[in-house]
Amino acid sequence: MKKRIALLLCFALLLPCLFLFASCGGDGAEETTAATTENDGPYTVTFVAGDRETTVTVERGETPVFPEELLSWETAEHFYKILGWDKEIVPAQGDVTYTATVGEYGLTLYEVLFVLPIGIVKVPTHEGEIPTPPKGYETDDTQEYKIGAFKEWDKELTAPTAENTENGSKKMSYTPVYNYSPRYVAALLSAKDGAKGILTMTYDDGILATATWVNAQNKKYGTKGSCMMVPNWAGTKPNFANKVNEWNAIFADGTLEPQNHSMTHERILPGEDADWEKTQWEQHKYNCIRENYDIELVQSKAVIEEAFPGHDVICFAPSNNTLSKRSFRTDGNGNLMKYANGEYVLVNDGGATKVAEATYYAIRKGNRGVQSLDPTLDGNAGGWYNLRIRAFKDFSGDEKLTQGKSWIDETVRDGNWLIVMCHGISGNGASGSGDITTAAAESFFAYASPKIQSGELWAATFSEATKYIRERQNTTVSARFENDAVLVDMIINRTTADGKTLDEAIFHDPLTVEVRVPDNWKNVQYSDGAKTLTAAVYKHDGASFAMVNLTPGADGATVTTEVTRYVAN
Ligand SMILES: [Zn+2]
Repeated sequence: MKKRIALLLCFALLLPCLFLFASCGGDGAEETTAATTENDGPYTVTFVAGDRETTVTVERGETPVFPEELLSWETAEHFYKILGWDKEIVPAQGDVTYTATVGEYGLTLYEVLFVLPIGIVKVPTHEGEIPTPPKGYETDDTQEYKIGAFKEWDKELTAPTAENTENGSKKMSYTPVYNYSPRYVAALLSAKDGAKGILTMTYDDGILATATWVNAQNKKYGTKGSCMMVPNWAGTKPNFANKVNEWNAIFADGTLEPQNHSMTHERILPGEDADWEKTQWEQHKYNCIRENYDIELVQSKAVIEEAFPGHDVICFAPSNNTLSKRSFRTDGNGNLMKYANGEYVLVNDGGATKVAEATYYAIRKGNRGVQSLDPTLDGNAGGWYNLRIRAFKDFSGDEKLTQGKSWIDETVRDGNWLIVMCHGISGNGASGSGDITTAAAESFFAYASPKIQSGELWAATFSEATKYIRERQNTTVSARFENDAVLVDMIINRTTADGKTLDEAIFHDPLTVEVRVPDNWKNVQYSDGAKTLTAAVYKHDGASFAMVNLTPGADGATVTTEVTRYVAN
């Protein structure tokens, strides 16, 4: 450093001579050239702080940087700190001197605590020094539903001394005060209209008498359900083929819908037993060939949709709760093929399970237990292809109703999807063809009813719940505030992570979105498609919200909805 300064000094002494020479040289152009040459740099920048002087050398146009480690220093008596410079430090155009304002403080260190939203920050501060607030105090970004802009400290920042610190503890503390404004957020709610849980009743085997009775109960109690239909049940069991009008009359009321329970209710083997091919009846083997999967799982869906127009058959419950995982191979004549050793040829092609999972959006098998509102995209228990169920038939007598009521309580309390499997409902005791008596079933509906009316429990058919949750799982929402309106942006990705398409012709039910609104709003107004709707504002966590029901649009398209203040007449 010293050598450099010396060199610069020589150069500086030389300057007037050069300038003199240039002045004598003649016209202005030459003078300018000479002046530019002599001022090209490098330059010396001198920083003066008290009795300390520091020089740095910079090129023309380079901004000098004062060494950070020299910003403060100590002597035997004092602590010094540079508070600022006499002028703004700018890119060098010549030699320049900056003079510092230096603060002089006592050597005693005090602990100044800044109680920030992100936590307490300790700033060691010398006696007589105004404490410097740490970074991050300007905004309170820790609140979910509001953002704070710094307004002031709870008290004026004061230099600590032995007199003004807390009880001689050498400590003082400051807390920021913020001006808050709403943080505009939107969230998809787990169930429709903000319900805590969903109740889906499923009635297996397509029993018309049960459906007729249940439909009347549904109208009375607000319950809903799905009839798992069997288009061509062999023999004397229920068969809807000659009762399509009766069924359609029931479905027209809207409390029940048809879904699929396989074409014939023939047993499809699970395909998990080691000696599967040896222990089953010959007919059961024929049930587990690919041609049969097409009839039982795919063609049956088309038959039901044709018989009951206006219903999307997207949910499936395999008969006997079983779906194969392998298939028997047949020859060109439809006969089962065998190896030379007499064993049947089995193909590891995923069997009926794979066909069912490719065809349906929700499959209910026999796994008992609590079903979450967010099924995983797989065939594990609790996943979309193996939803958990509750069944009245697992219990006897009064236990059926006790259990049923506890399922409802648990669903509302914990936020679950209660899928109840039920077969016939009989009027003369729990034995025989019925899973539960009409008396117990009505008590169950009556118990659920107030929770449905209050909005805690959403009574939904199997397909309604499936559509809502599937759409929600593939949709994102966000909110912003512009021109006195909360704008909600909704985007659906119509391809699920397991490769299914959420066809807009089927998956077009509105999703319930909770939107943060200004705290002085009482009601909101918005549009969903052609409908203009209003909703009341409510509060939680010290912030105001409204629930809006918005229909997702085309794949990947952003649907923006304007939510505005609504003043009711
Ligand atoms: Zn069945």
